[in-house]
Order: sequence, then structure tokens, then C-alpha cells
Amino acid sequence: MHNETKLMNNKLLLSALLVVLGLCAAGTLLSVINRCTEINTSSSGYLTELESTVWKKLALAGASKTACDEQLSKNRSKNTRVHSTFKNISKETQKLCLEILPAFGINPVTVSFYGAKMPSSAASHGNSIYIDEEKLNTYSIKGKKYIIGHELIHFIYQDMLMDEIIMQKTGLAHSDSFTCPLNEFRRFTEIRADILCAEHGPDYADGYLEYISYWMEKSPAQAPEPTHPSDEERLVLARQMTHSFKNNTTQA
Ligand SMILES: [Zn+2]
Repeated sequence: MHNETKLMNNKLLLSALLVVLGLCAAGTLLSVINRCTEINTSSSGYLTELESTVWKKLALAGASKTACDEQLSKNRSKNTRVHSTFKNISKETQKLCLEILPAFGINPVTVSFYGAKMPSSAASHGNSIYIDEEKLNTYSIKGKKYIIGHELIHFIYQDMLMDEIIMQKTGLAHSDSFTCPLNEFRRFTEIRADILCAEHGPDYADGYLEYISYWMEKSPAQAPEPTHPSDEERLVLARQMTHSFKNNTTQA
């Protein structure tokens, strides 16, 4: 009898625990869905708002968006001559780049890829993309796709050339200030490269999450840089984007 009561009590306890766990799971799921809906429906709106805030500050500093866009299209046309597509890049990475380029609507002959030793796994300037293959190879295929795709978004918008134009027009130089409009512009271009790259599909979004998680694990105490969004901000965005793809797949 005593044992039966104990068993009953245990069963009740277990049921109560399951209800609590169920509620927690439902709560988490709901919050995930809410966050996904947020990024799903407003990622372009989010970027548009961010961009307009940044350009308002740049205009006050002497660089209006219209004047900078005009200058960029002049510099861009001067910068279309491309000699070769790949230099010092392994066949394997070349193959991956050639798979990614059409997904981003880019004609391969307009971009040059160069193998290089750098502090980061990839970088871009004008029509050139630089890749440190040793660093790139520490990531999975998805991570590599995100890293290359992120640079391709910089290439599409010619972010580095625009950066130079802004510096010329405003006289602003590199600084450690988080409120300097030049650094605000740089943080915006990084967020845009992250979001627009990850929007190309679940592989890119998963790669974004892999990349940022790797960085946070590797250097957890890294102080935020004024030129880049914080790791925490990127992690939130990456999680939202991977969840939004998962959510869409489940609904389909
Ligand atoms: Zn970048």
C-alpha cells in the first residue's frame, strides 16, 4: 500500500514535471517563432532603416548618399578591368567559388580571387576577393559558403570603394570611436553582408551561425570593434536566420 501511494505520488510528480517541461518547450517555440517572424518579415526593412540612419549622419558629416552613389558609379566603371579569375587558390576552393557566384547573380569574370595570408579568412576590395585558405579550411562547407558569400555582398555593393569615397568627402579617418559615422557605416555594411548572404539559403544561414559561434568560442573575451557589429548581435541575427529557414521548411 505504502509502495502504491509512493508510485502514485511519483506518477503525479512526473506528470506535473512533463506539463511544466511541455509549457517551457511551447514557450521557447513561441518565442523562436516570434523572433523568426520578426526577421523574416522585416529583415529588408531593418536594413533600410539602419541604412537611412547611417546616411543621415554621414550627410551631416559632409557625405550625402546621392553624391557618394554618383562617385561610386564613376569609380566602379574605372574598376571593371579584370585579368584573371583565380590566383593561388586551390582547385577545390575555385570549384566552390564558381558554385556560389551564380547564386549571387555574379558573372565569374567580373571578380578576381587571390590566395593570401591574412588575419581573417577572407576580405575584399574593389573587384578582388582575398582568401586565406588555411583559415577558410577550418570551417565546414556551409561555413565556407557563408564566408565567401559575405565577401560577395561587399563586392556587389562595392563597400570598400564607398568607404574610401566617404573618407574623402568627410575627411573622417580610421578611429576607435563607436559613434563616428564612418564606423557606423562600416558596421552597417557588415550587417548587410551578413543578412543578405544568409538570405541566400539555409546553408548560408547555418554557415553564418557556425562562423560566429566559432569566433565566440575561440576568443570569448574579445572586445567589440567599432568597425564591426558585436559578436552577440551577429549571434542573435544568425540564430534568427537559421530558425526562419527551419520554420519555413517545417511549414512547407
Ligand atoms: Zn565583412
